[in-house]
Amino acid sequence: MRVTRYIVQLVFLLLVIGVAFVFQGNCERWCPFGGVEAAYMYFTEGDMLCSLGVSNFFALGGVLVSVLLLRRAFCGYVCPMGTISDWTGGLGRRLGIVQIRLPENVERILRVLKYFVLAAILVATWKAGELIFRGFDPWYALTSRHGTDITLWAYVALAVTVLSSLVFVLPFCRWLCPFAAVLTPLASAGLTRVKRDTQHCQGCERCSKKCPMSIPVHSLTEITTGRCLSCMSCLDVCPANNGHTEAALTWGPPGCLGRPWSQAALVCVLLFCTSAAVAASYLLPSPSFAHSRGTPPKDVARIALKVTNVSCRGRANFLVYFLERDDIYEVPGYLKIEAWPGPGTVPVEITYDPAKTDEQVIKRAITEAYLDVARNEWTTSPFKIENYQPPALNLQGFPMWKNGGLKGS
Ligand code: SF4
Ligand code: SF4
Repeated sequence: MRVTRYIVQLVFLLLVIGVAFVFQGNCERWCPFGGVEAAYMYFTEGDMLCSLGVSNFFALGGVLVSVLLLRRAFCGYVCPMGTISDWTGGLGRRLGIVQIRLPENVERILRVLKYFVLAAILVATWKAGELIFRGFDPWYALTSRHGTDITLWAYVALAVTVLSSLVFVLPFCRWLCPFAAVLTPLASAGLTRVKRDTQHCQGCERCSKKCPMSIPVHSLTEITTGRCLSCMSCLDVCPANNGHTEAALTWGPPGCLGRPWSQAALVCVLLFCTSAAVAASYLLPSPSFAHSRGTPPKDVARIALKVTNVSCRGRANFLVYFLERDDIYEVPGYLKIEAWPGPGTVPVEITYDPAKTDEQVIKRAITEAYLDVARNEWTTSPFKIENYQPPALNLQGFPMWKNGGLKGS
């Protein structure tokens, strides 16, 4: 069972490394915790935070379904932070480092910390409308390829998370992870559980000593706590679990729902939830940024563009600034923009009134410098459109050009 878990952990870790470093993708957009952070703004304003996408909600949905079925198996098998912590602890044990187990009363206090971390992140994020903790986030340090607003503290947090895993078992997952704070209460209602048959149990307590979440398995008949990772380490070490049907520890649904399940069922459910979340994101590609102007006429047209430098919600708002300009490149028929902000070149769709404007006018409005006559100021456009070469800039007709200058954005 341990080997199966290692393989699943490795597959998901390689997937994240591949998306982040091989395909240079935006891992943030697949983080289920991003769905929690973005929920407030999305349901009040209709936009996602920073460069998050609606895919964060699908990822969150997939994880929540898995939690209702498998408790915190997501933490034990899928989450890269959990995997790195877990493997670092294993490496430490191989190097002879004895991991410290804290007394239960201290452990209980530390476990509460993650709820404060969650509350602080949500309140600050929802109030600011920005991922303001991103610069301190070990996950962002790991996958952002030194992202734009990262701080040294994110790397410090990552180093502390990894190094502390040498001396404590999964310290981040147990005490500080805000997503664990979201999942744990829900996992208490999880369908599957480890069950202990008192008839066959020898009372050796190996299961409790091995449990990474400090659950007293040897004294319970069913593990229904939301802390259980469904890692099955307890089943692995139980001497009364020798592959026979009369085992002391089994895993599966409550007794009334049938026989114990194998770990393969867990892996299948996890893979199904993950694939369903990814498939839903591609089949229902909702924009993560939308902005409308005016009332649309009966006939409208749409243009789909690939635009660079629309890296976050702030940049998407800046794009709106260019579309709503009032100089000679004004777009009178502009009605709506839908965008998927992120690194690199991103899709942008613009709805317009074909009776008032056309595609060329829209492209020019996006890429040409804007003259703010009231402030006597030019703003250059940071945006480039794939396969579009703007015509040469002719500024002769602009009196302000003679008086002012071309200011960068
Ligand atoms: S109770 Fe067993 S399956 Fe649950 S976390 Fe502990 S060792 Fe893993
Ligand atoms: S490891 Fe197995 S035999 Fe030992 S206490 Fe736990 S359930 Fe009982």
